[in-house]
Amino acid sequence: MNPALQIRDLVLAYGGITAVKGVSLDVPAGKTVCLVGANGAGKTSVMRAISGLVKAKAGSIRYFGDELTGRHPAGMAARGIAHVPEGRETFQRLSVEESLRMGGFRLPRAEFGHRRDAMFETFPRLKERRTQLSGLLSGGEQQMLAMARALISNPKLLLLDEPSMGLAPNIVDEVFQVIADLRQTDTTVLLVEQNALRALELADYAYVMETGSIVIEGEGRQLANDPRITTAYLGGE
Ligand code: ATP
Repeated sequence: MNPALQIRDLVLAYGGITAVKGVSLDVPAGKTVCLVGANGAGKTSVMRAISGLVKAKAGSIRYFGDELTGRHPAGMAARGIAHVPEGRETFQRLSVEESLRMGGFRLPRAEFGHRRDAMFETFPRLKERRTQLSGLLSGGEQQMLAMARALISNPKLLLLDEPSMGLAPNIVDEVFQVIADLRQTDTTVLLVEQNALRALELADYAYVMETGSIVIEGEGRQLANDPRITTAYLGGE
């Protein structure tokens, strides 16, 4: 079977600066794979390239066998790819309910209601705040809304970029619980996380990036206990 995502020799550049220097990685269908590494290593750039937001200079990105490079980002949702970007990017002037409607606009009306209720079950706070403007939510609630907006369409591939960034510890726990629960579903997840240890503990497989290249890869739990990782990336955690 084709992996959900197969990236080969991906090169990304901004002007004259090469930010991603020949990255290859696989995300098997239904699995959770994480990408960790220091700030500026190129993790977000890889995510943006998958969504078509950054153009590949070289290499290929195959999604269930289809080449994604050169495709327009607007077509990604229809393919079943949902991207929750770093910084969440919620629609500040829409209510929670309206935001979810945007995320689920492809769904038939009856199915939308069913999926929305499922999201409210996963994120009970969003149900309490359903009529509130997104811009007035706390950071943690905005992250939950961004995740719910992505998940409502039942994506085949979820790209999650730094979901725990800037959140209070109890909210971080909730976010990681949702990601852990996704492992029980068919959804394939590619996760970029600064909280490397927690990401490694829940990932099936992980890649470590350093200055544009993958330097270490392996099973998540194994890497969580790998001294190369614990000294270089997890110091103090
Ligand atoms: P972070 O955790 O800080 O987001 P990252 O691993 O996700 O780091 P990227 O954001 O992909 O790294 O950045 C990789 C490199 O590309 C960095 O050197 C960054 O400065 C550079 N870069 C990223 N976006 C742009 C851009 N739009 N224009 C120019 N350079 C950029």
